[in-house]
Amino acid sequence: MAREKPGGALLSALGAEHAEGRPLLSLVEAALGEMERPVWSESVPAREPSAATGEPLLSGATIRIAPGPVRRWVHRAMTIAGAGASARPFAEALAEGQLDPMTLFEAAVAQDPARLDDLARAVGDDRGVLRGVGRIVAMPMLHACRQAWIPLVPAAWAEGYCPICGDWPTLAEVRGLDGQRRLRCGRCGGDWRTEWLRCPFCGERGHEHLGSLVSEGPDQQTVDVCERCRQYVKTLTALVPIRPEHVFLQDLTTLVLDVVALERGYRRPVAKGRPVEVIATPSRLRTLFRLRR
Ligand SMILES: [Zn+2]
Ligand SMILES: [Zn+2]
Repeated sequence: MAREKPGGALLSALGAEHAEGRPLLSLVEAALGEMERPVWSESVPAREPSAATGEPLLSGATIRIAPGPVRRWVHRAMTIAGAGASARPFAEALAEGQLDPMTLFEAAVAQDPARLDDLARAVGDDRGVLRGVGRIVAMPMLHACRQAWIPLVPAAWAEGYCPICGDWPTLAEVRGLDGQRRLRCGRCGGDWRTEWLRCPFCGERGHEHLGSLVSEGPDQQTVDVCERCRQYVKTLTALVPIRPEHVFLQDLTTLVLDVVALERGYRRPVAKGRPVEVIATPSRLRTLFRLRR
């Protein structure tokens, strides 16, 4: 029997519903396939549980990775994105050597919007396309990091942002029969426990400042809102955990909840939860270094 592609059912449901989002869905599909290549897990740097409280594990990481697979994946992602005309300058810039795949990969994994925008401007585009594509480009590496680093996440992690990559949660999940509230990261698939009454973004705990917008329909989906920071997180009820690689897709399938929140004047955070520094460097340098010693 043919093996179903990862996320296949969700992707086809989305493709049917959101025809205008096809280049994005093709990109996500490519990223899901890319995650299965061993190069990403082989390049995850060793980390120690962080001594500094509140520091995501990605913070300060140096990723040594073969440039070939990075170049191939960045080219592929840009070519797919290039099916939408807005991304064409990037595919050309890569082909002509004006845009360095490793630099783009590094900025994408760190999720550094200023650097991504600088790279975009350098090739004559100021529409923020690289920010969007960068999210997907980083996914295979970040998911590999999550898989390797899960045992290092402190059980008492109490921050609103992801303990692996530092991004804000994409979703909250009310899980299982005991109704734990978990926060989920769409970039790395991260999964961490949180309190019921706590805004992930500003830490507000006062029930008088926290509320829910309940959507109509059979699914148990709500939008948790905070009156202090006026930000929101979508909350889905799930008996079993959403698979890490599906969190990004679940975000897309619940756009109606975003509309509900935005119409009432709430927003998602603009900046990343905790900025992190990441260095990506060609792994062959290690070999050269050994040869010269
Ligand atoms: Zn994350
Ligand atoms: Zn808040």
